[in-house]
Amino acid sequence: MKAQKCPVCEGKGKMPADFYPDTAETTEKWVTCRTCNGSGIVVLEDEVEHIMQKLEESLSEVPENIEEDEAEIEAAIGEAEESARQEYMEELEKKEKEEEG
Ligand SMILES: [Zn+2]
Repeated sequence: MKAQKCPVCEGKGKMPADFYPDTAETTEKWVTCRTCNGSGIVVLEDEVEHIMQKLEESLSEVPENIEEDEAEIEAAIGEAEESARQEYMEELEKKEKEEEG
């Protein structure tokens, strides 16, 4: 694990109240930083670091035909939605028949 100064409050542990939309109404000028819970430091888990690293790696390996991939992904999502819808309709029909029956 690695600890580092909270990048949000810069180690102060406090943030101006209007930083968070839902505390803008408060009379307090400063509120506890939600990123570090007021401690001023954030701890990076090894796992998080690992994931971030992987993410960066995969981002740097983005193929140039990304548009094609996006279309493929959209098509896959569309298919999944369609089959889910079909299943749902079949279920519905079955139920209706049972009720009639
Ligand atoms: Zn903080």
